[in-house]
Amino acid sequence: MSVLEKPAHGKGIKKQSVVKYVSIVLTVLFTSILFFKGKDNSKSSLTKKFNEYGSKSLSDRLKDFTYTEESKCPLSEALTPSFENYDLKNIFVNETFIDLAAEKLSGAIKVNTSIGDNTPSPKDDINYWAKFLEFHEYLEEAFPLVHEKLELEKINELGLLYKWEGTNSDLKPIVFMAHQDVVLVNENTLDQWTYPAFSGHYDKETHLIWGRGAIDCKNLLIAELHALEILLEQGFVPTRSVYLSLGFDEESSGVHGAAYLSKHLTDTLGPDSIYSIIDEGPGFTQLSENFYIAAPILNEKGRIDVKISVEGNGGHSSSPPMNGHTNIGILAKAISLMEDTGFEPEYSEKNSIWQFLQCIAEYDDKLDPEFKEAIVKREVSPYYKNKLLSILNSQKEFKDLIKTSQAFDIISGGVKANALPEDAFAIVNHRIDVGSSVKKVLERDLSLAKVIAKTYNYGLILEDKEILPKTDNGIIKVETFGHSIEPAPISPQNEVYDIFQKTIYNTFFNGFLSEKESDDIIFAVSPNTVTVNTDTLYYWNLTSNIYRFQCIKFSVESMKSIHSVNEAVDARDHASTIGFIYDYILNVNEYDS
Ligand SMILES: [Zn+2]
Repeated sequence: MSVLEKPAHGKGIKKQSVVKYVSIVLTVLFTSILFFKGKDNSKSSLTKKFNEYGSKSLSDRLKDFTYTEESKCPLSEALTPSFENYDLKNIFVNETFIDLAAEKLSGAIKVNTSIGDNTPSPKDDINYWAKFLEFHEYLEEAFPLVHEKLELEKINELGLLYKWEGTNSDLKPIVFMAHQDVVLVNENTLDQWTYPAFSGHYDKETHLIWGRGAIDCKNLLIAELHALEILLEQGFVPTRSVYLSLGFDEESSGVHGAAYLSKHLTDTLGPDSIYSIIDEGPGFTQLSENFYIAAPILNEKGRIDVKISVEGNGGHSSSPPMNGHTNIGILAKAISLMEDTGFEPEYSEKNSIWQFLQCIAEYDDKLDPEFKEAIVKREVSPYYKNKLLSILNSQKEFKDLIKTSQAFDIISGGVKANALPEDAFAIVNHRIDVGSSVKKVLERDLSLAKVIAKTYNYGLILEDKEILPKTDNGIIKVETFGHSIEPAPISPQNEVYDIFQKTIYNTFFNGFLSEKESDDIIFAVSPNTVTVNTDTLYYWNLTSNIYRFQCIKFSVESMKSIHSVNEAVDARDHASTIGFIYDYILNVNEYDS
């Protein structure tokens, strides 16, 4: 066993109090890239502080005196496997290996496994999924040892469940997830791709591998198989079983893939039978010259789609209703009120974002001082807590991480230009804040619909329950549309998480930085949150230790390309994902088996 100490907490950190024009770049899963510009406050910071104190209550001022600069984002250490054939450096610095890894990913991108929103069950229409069968053949060719030594079960025809049997069946297995499908390429953007979307073009000069799925998430799927292939080559024998559980319709809903895979695992292993699950997610990012942060996702927002319908009288449009509003107009009033009201940002203790911001405040010496102050004092002062919420709520990239969102995405009503519409409906999509719930969001939508119903004298129904009796004008209905999802349970930061995060340190310092000077580098690992869902939502009953993370260095360019044109990944970053999975399997077996 060898444990490398990296770096001692707090060492080498230069705290700068006055900074001109600063920017931070936060990389959050798939969507959130931001440049937070601070103001030049080099001359006025002291004056400003006095003014702020003057405007605060006495209790707030007293509370501020208890504030200390003790770290709330302690740095950890690297956990290094002692496996006799262990060779992480080879994955990161051997150009031949990196080219080989790139070729394997490139081959996977070339098989076009894009899917739309409404996919048929493979049992009903296997032709729709023909490319996936081709993809399976490709995997067999690319990873011969995995296919020779591991059990492979196909679940619901196309879900791939690989099992590497461990020597101790009493230990809970570890599971790696990824999805085989990729998002459709918009036909109108085909000419904007530097290399065709399914070319899998690999440029040895730039190390970039191009094509749909390069980051979301054929890279992860291929990295998982590649890490297993290396471990098999090196003669590793796991004590704890390892599963790869690879869905095929994550980009639509996961109902054919992840839903079946998770049910199969539950049926065969039972609930709470898995040690940990790793699925797609963000990686690490460089926020300033010497500061990197890794941001695994430990929770996800929930989701509910709500249908608001207005049903009432029709008639000839030459004689509109007395109040001037058709049923379409009443629906528009409801939409307008909901959009104007919005959701308030919430300071939910459960939200991982506070831990993430705390780490940035402590170690990013270029962070805007005002932002930093709000972050570090938020827990001892309601003034700063509110200030922080208002700063975050004013930033496009942050606002939806601290509150429930809403977006009206579908509207319908009316059939003829000279006929009053008997009915109209709209569907609003909500992503539910970690501190809220499906019920709370539905109640809030109902309360606003009630305002409209009362104002314009309509009845009101929630699901099948009458709230206000139907009137001569008609009725407004509020109902859940489709399947709702509560916010995901938050993965605990327990001893399993400890091995996970120390493995990230190892892959970073002894892999990613292996050839570079690392004495002054500060590397923090902090949970963060996201606005979207992954296939893991089907796996909640199998373990509470679910981590969405792929240990890739995210750049602004790569983030922008996800679900868009010119999706590409650097082969060295792809190697980083392979290295992390390699490390994690070894560490879990060595330190917790
Ligand atoms: Zn994905």
